[in-house]
Amino acid sequence: MIFYKSEEQIDLIKISADLLGRAHAEVAKLVLPGVSTKTLDKMAFEFITDNSGKPSFKGYRGFPASLCISLNDQVVHGIPSDQVLKEGDIVSIDCGVKLNGFHSDSAYTYKVGMVSSEVDRLLSVTKDSLYQGIDAAKSGARIGDIGFAVQSFVERNGFSVVRELVGHGVGKELHESPEVPNFGKRGKGLKLLEGLVIAIEPMVNFGSRSVLQESDGWTIRTIDRKPSAHYEHTVVIRKGGPEILTTFKYIEEVLN
Ligand code: MG
Ligand code: MG
Repeated sequence: MIFYKSEEQIDLIKISADLLGRAHAEVAKLVLPGVSTKTLDKMAFEFITDNSGKPSFKGYRGFPASLCISLNDQVVHGIPSDQVLKEGDIVSIDCGVKLNGFHSDSAYTYKVGMVSSEVDRLLSVTKDSLYQGIDAAKSGARIGDIGFAVQSFVERNGFSVVRELVGHGVGKELHESPEVPNFGKRGKGLKLLEGLVIAIEPMVNFGSRSVLQESDGWTIRTIDRKPSAHYEHTVVIRKGGPEILTTFKYIEEVLN
């Protein structure tokens, strides 16, 4: 079942997404060597709840935290812990907020201090692939056009796309239909219609696309132990083109 959103509902998702963007920025301020991933999670929880929101991930299928924090070879779904960030790490931070009955979902990968130029390129290609996917999310296009755009861009740049995890519809539920793969064929899959709200979230590996789940039952990591990056926006399909509802504006104010 696909739930197309009204303008009123899209406005509510935008309000949720604004709080999410500001929560990400509070966390971004703490992305420094020596800071534990638990500290980042605590900041997100406090900021979201202080602003009347609910962290979407906490308790979701038993997930114990407000953030998924995935370091280096971890792709997604890392659990915050006492582990501290160190110079040269990359860290993917995924967060969701529920506010006024609606979820929003976004993710950003950070450099901790200086990273190698190749890892830097992994991050910029992954982020650019997100915008390639968003550009393809035009009214009347198909889900496969999004995946094709992401996959072809990533592979042209020498990296690989994770297939086991995908984007999704967003609304009253954190994960709604349809699934939004980051790979696919042009012109295939569900037709994108106005009012469809989806999270587009490429997970891009430096080496092989193969991943496994750690014994904690959550963390996904690369099999070859090479790094992986993840960026995500929640987007609405509009007649005139896709509109991004989440924002990296607050994060990038902190980083610049
Ligand atoms: Mg997410
Ligand atoms: Mg998501």
